[in-house]
Amino acid sequence: MKLAIDETRCKGCNLCTKVCPYRIFKEGKNPNRRGIVVPELDRPERCTNCRLRHLYGRQLCGVCQLTCPDQAIHWMDEEPYELHKVAIEY
Ligand code: SF4
Ligand code: SF4
Repeated sequence: MKLAIDETRCKGCNLCTKVCPYRIFKEGKNPNRRGIVVPELDRPERCTNCRLRHLYGRQLCGVCQLTCPDQAIHWMDEEPYELHKVAIEY
């Protein structure tokens, strides 16, 4: 699973930056086209839900999603890893 913020919904309130036990959300620096400073994600693969959701078969933690007043936080299925040839040049 991959954690993501929907920029069309986020209003930059930064509540998510205060609740995550892993401090995955950090205050953003640059405003987007709507003038909203959306938080940045710091190594979101550390999120409990990203790591263990498939193992437990249900959503875990989710405190950030419950806290967000604009339903801007969600998880996406990642594409399965596909083997591909790697050309190595010596
Ligand atoms: S689900 Fe929990 S661990 Fe994952 S980003 Fe949200 S608050 Fe942090
Ligand atoms: S809590 Fe939701 S609306 Fe507020 S900054 Fe985080 S993602 Fe954006």
